[in-house]
Amino acid sequence: MVLFSAVSSPTAIPSANYRGRLAPSPTGYLHLGHARTFWVAQARARAAGGQLILRNEDLDSTRYKMEFVDAMLEDLRWFGFHWDEGPDTGGKCAPYHQSERGSFYQDALEKLRQGNFIYPCTCSRKDIQAATRAPHANDDGEPVYPGTCRGNRPSEIANHKFAWRFRVPAGETIAFTDGNLGRQSLVAGKHFGDFVVWRGDGVPAYQLACVADDAAMQITEVVRGADLLVSTARQILLYRALGFPLPDFFHCELMLDETGVRLAKRHDALSLRQLRARGESPESLRRDWAAKAK
Ligand code: GLU
Repeated sequence: MVLFSAVSSPTAIPSANYRGRLAPSPTGYLHLGHARTFWVAQARARAAGGQLILRNEDLDSTRYKMEFVDAMLEDLRWFGFHWDEGPDTGGKCAPYHQSERGSFYQDALEKLRQGNFIYPCTCSRKDIQAATRAPHANDDGEPVYPGTCRGNRPSEIANHKFAWRFRVPAGETIAFTDGNLGRQSLVAGKHFGDFVVWRGDGVPAYQLACVADDAAMQITEVVRGADLLVSTARQILLYRALGFPLPDFFHCELMLDETGVRLAKRHDALSLRQLRARGESPESLRRDWAAKAK
């Protein structure tokens, strides 16, 4: 039994050259929660007469597995998704695997570095936790960075392993109107702190890769789960720093299990694979979903 949170009424779909995207990470099998968010994304792209892009977010080779990439494409197709551009179909913004888009991330990093938006940070997770009084003060569980390395210069840490961190304008309210959830306001330095754009192990961070790709792929509306609201605020700062036009945002309510816990890849029983193996049809799985984009 799956519970749904209340569904609010959507705003009109912006239609001029609409480009939406599905951006799954192949770190496990897709579950019903992904499918519901993606279904909204697909419905909004269709209603706007626009394009839907599939991007494989396989940046983190320590977490993703090749078998999940194939399973992802198969499960999406089985469920009824059709994309206009993607890893299997190609398109004008190829490649559609993040693991092949390194130059886009390098360029973005260089721009941020030249604009002095980022600084090298040598803190480990442990250091940050030790220095943070309220480690879970913000919504997405990422401790607000205490600013230990803010004064670092690249020349000073030459022989250290370091991450690049974005300096947020502390105290500034980042406000935007979400297509589903309405007006959102998050305060930099309070709801989220300086965040990593390039990891110490040399892998571009999700925030940077996502913004570089959404901009390069000319995405006009980002439809994603409400768990990423804080990340959206971080990303708005990146759009601004990089001089990229801001897309619209539409955050979907998260799907919860019967105990009120949000669905995650560990909910194997609700993976599309297992539901399919149990003989469920996509139509029956979608039966109770509110038609947000209609
Ligand atoms: N790959 C990310 C995820 O699966 C994408 C999130 C997004 O920006 O929509 O959580």
